Amino acid sequence: MNEVKEETLSPKNYLSGVHPIWCPGCGHYFVLRALTQALAWLKIPNEQIGLMTGIGCSSRISAYVDAYGFHGVHGRALALGAGLKAARPDMHVIVAGGDGDGYSIGGNHFLHACRRNMDITYIVMDNEVYGMTKGQPSPTTEPDWQSKLAPEGTGIRRFNPLGIALASGASFIARGFAGDQKGVSKLIVEAIEHKGFSLVEIKSPCVTFRPEEKEWHKTMHKMNIEPTADVLEAAQKIHGNDGLDTGIFYQAELPVFQPDFTEEKSIVDFEKEFEV
Ligand code: SF4
Ligand code: MG
Repeated sequence: MNEVKEETLSPKNYLSGVHPIWCPGCGHYFVLRALTQALAWLKIPNEQIGLMTGIGCSSRISAYVDAYGFHGVHGRALALGAGLKAARPDMHVIVAGGDGDGYSIGGNHFLHACRRNMDITYIVMDNEVYGMTKGQPSPTTEPDWQSKLAPEGTGIRRFNPLGIALASGASFIARGFAGDQKGVSKLIVEAIEHKGFSLVEIKSPCVTFRPEEKEWHKTMHKMNIEPTADVLEAAQKIHGNDGLDTGIFYQAELPVFQPDFTEEKSIVDFEKEFEV
């Protein structure tokens, strides 16, 4: 791992040196830069970070960050993050992935991660498509988007990650835009510092399968939302906007679930207890 010297702390201290294989212009490059900038601002020692990811283009980020990481199976990154946080409450657990991984295959884990409200930061790079498998509609794709798999669109309403996170019990809910790298870095800093489950949904263009998303920089509203701890006010902000607002929509102090594993038990003890 890189040796972190405070006077030279920069995003580079958190880059593994593995060259990203994302397409040129992919929004995920900006998210990687924003995440490493946030870690540099917070001066978190590399060995105190656990970055758990699922499957998909964005989930490759665990290879690119100089931290403990695990590139898991599809949709299970939050389960990995919960396990790590349960065993190692001292670590900063960051979970990352895409809209398909987190909201479809991992949708059930998403609901219950919000409900449990463990002290985990969840970064979702939402490009409204399955990029790695060549452009199928995802849960956040608009119903009339035409693709090879759905030539006339899916006709299915979109999943609303922020609304579902609020209804499910997440205590920090934010949306950013990859093109606003500084704004995203600030959101990640706030999310990591927040005690509880923090959703940072980042609109991150897939320039290969959704080239029209290159225009998002013209339409996204940059950091125009102020946090509230009032659920109804947050719901109004989430459901009453055009989906292009960014900032912290909701932040509240809610009970945080953290199992106590201070009583040391070996696997033999567990086997005896459960008669395995
Ligand atoms: Fe990024 Fe899309 Fe290329 Fe995947 S397919 S690396 S999401 S631009
Ligand atoms: Mg995606």
